[in-house]
Amino acid sequence: MSKQIKDGFPGTVGNTPLIRLKTLSEVTGCNILGKAEFLNPGGSVKDRAAMGIIEDAETRGLLKPGGTIVEGTAGNTGIGLSLVGNAKGYRTIIVIPDTQSQEKINLLRAIGADVRPVPAAPYTDPNNYNHIARRLAEETENAFWANQFDNTANRDYHARTTGPEIYEQTGGEVSAFVAAVGTGGTLAGATRALKERNPKVLGVCADPYGAAMWSWFKHGHLDIDDGDSVSEGIGQGRVTENIKSAPIDQAYRIHDSVMIKMLYHLLLKEGLFLGASSAINVCGAVKLALERGPGQVITTILCDDGQRYLSRLYNPEWLQEENLDPAHENLDFIHEI
Ligand code: PMP
Repeated sequence: MSKQIKDGFPGTVGNTPLIRLKTLSEVTGCNILGKAEFLNPGGSVKDRAAMGIIEDAETRGLLKPGGTIVEGTAGNTGIGLSLVGNAKGYRTIIVIPDTQSQEKINLLRAIGADVRPVPAAPYTDPNNYNHIARRLAEETENAFWANQFDNTANRDYHARTTGPEIYEQTGGEVSAFVAAVGTGGTLAGATRALKERNPKVLGVCADPYGAAMWSWFKHGHLDIDDGDSVSEGIGQGRVTENIKSAPIDQAYRIHDSVMIKMLYHLLLKEGLFLGASSAINVCGAVKLALERGPGQVITTILCDDGQRYLSRLYNPEWLQEENLDPAHENLDFIHEI
């Protein structure tokens, strides 16, 4: 078969374009490049984690024909797992905090997942969605718990695919990789692969307020309570197995007030319709560019598309309730990042 033909959903994951963000590159004198993960067949960067986790479980004999995949997820991993599962003949049960957007819950149901919304609870609570997912997998016949946060098959897949793709696509010119942390698989895996090829490449964390990764990378502790963010899929409060020992050089905190301006800038001036984590990532890339000066090749992730957030990020009433103002005259706001 021709190499140009992709083999089903699994064969279509990855090899996404790396997009030069023209306006932001011009204003910083750097190349700011976004990896278009929203173009994956399940619509997000989490298709990669789903592929990595499922392939690894098959290889290790943990996932058997006709089996059930169980996972606690903010949505995108569930979408990836369900679609890869459909293509490979597995059922999927998804436990999701009921604070997540209705679009993602509806989408999961539409694609055939058995969706179980549960009240949001901290990780230390036995009723946290991850613990519920683990117990469900234990109680269900022929089931496998994907465990995206601590299953390092997630990070390793990014080390095998995302990082090498970025290195190739930039012709080895990449100087930094910036990403927010959900599980940490993307940041840790891609950074590892890039540093293996060139130890000078910087690994940079862009963290929303209310998370603890900025504090972890900057000060080595998680003891921080600095607010909140409307972003979904990111905002980690503990050191997952995927992020543990990641070689991170720099970390920034990105406030929602600049994230929302960047989100709308990306839509209205670059034509890219994205979710909040993508805007946080791009803010981190721009901050690094301004701090280190022109000439760098700074890469980041465009994680998922805006359709998932129509009732929130792209709904004027919701924005007003959240006190978020996307309006801006020009790119001056980048100096407030
Ligand atoms: N952005 C979005 C929209 C996500 O769903 C996720 C994953 N939860 C991330 C970013 C972060 O990716 P990772 O889990 O690899 O840290």
